[in-house]
Amino acid sequence: MAKSVISYQSGPFATISMGLPGDHEGKTATRVFFVKGADKIALIDSGLYGGLPALKQAFDELGLNPGDLDLLLLTHEHMDHVGNNGWLKEETGCTIMGHAARADRVADNMLNAKTIVHAFPEGEHFDLKSEYLDWMGPTEGPIDEFIKDGDPIDLGGGVVLETVEVLGHSMAEIGFFERSTKTLIIADPLLPPFNPVLYLYEEPNVMRATFDKIERFLDERDVQAVLFAHDEVKSAAETKELIDDCRRRVNQVEASMVTHMKANPGITFAELRDKCCDDQNMVREWRALVSINASLKDFEAKGLAKRDGNGWRYVG
Ligand SMILES: [Zn+2]
Repeated sequence: MAKSVISYQSGPFATISMGLPGDHEGKTATRVFFVKGADKIALIDSGLYGGLPALKQAFDELGLNPGDLDLLLLTHEHMDHVGNNGWLKEETGCTIMGHAARADRVADNMLNAKTIVHAFPEGEHFDLKSEYLDWMGPTEGPIDEFIKDGDPIDLGGGVVLETVEVLGHSMAEIGFFERSTKTLIIADPLLPPFNPVLYLYEEPNVMRATFDKIERFLDERDVQAVLFAHDEVKSAAETKELIDDCRRRVNQVEASMVTHMKANPGITFAELRDKCCDDQNMVREWRALVSINASLKDFEAKGLAKRDGNGWRYVG
């Protein structure tokens, strides 16, 4: 018998861990979550394509037939969360539900890869296949039904998943709050500190508002446990500590940007990315370009930074 792929099991939940290439002793593994009600079984995210054997094994370990899966709920469009959509759709006939804003990307892996890896000319030397497409697999599974903030998904027997919008990392990200167990399931709005890439956010202030929203949510809804896609299960108190660390890391990106624009007026977008990654000992890759661009746009809108030839100057 192969090693169990179930890393956490409690009440209606079974968490399945899929190793990532270059994984840090399983810490950054992508997790997907089975949630079982009296009437329906849902899976939150389909994981990365390389994790398909783990997903197949999970059905066996949980004693499920493929046809038993009713719903696939997507947290967001990134590669490690939608990589087995096509397989699940074909094998289980499940209904795929997700946020409307990135439905076009979920339906088209090439578009999904291009819009993030090749979002900027500075990222065009990254290979789409190895950086993205290999992780998402040969087939897509488009969203059948859109869900939005507050929408309840009733699985029967009191198990209800409430949709919670958590934008910023992706501008189409949602999490789920299971009401009977007061469990919050989120993918990437709170990223673990041991991740070797710069904090990925598309809009810094939306990201910060989401940190505040999750912090309030923990208190207002008396959250008992938080399940993460790339981190161990945490209590509300532990999650608050993580939120503080996430705030610190986003602030640190922007502090580095200001320092380097001041020290080197006219610094290019690519140089700024390299310096910011180096300051935090992070890999200089395409994800970092997304965050640096987002903060530059925000600085520009606030009159704090200006374009200067091919680069940027701090004027705040
Ligand atoms: Zn993500």
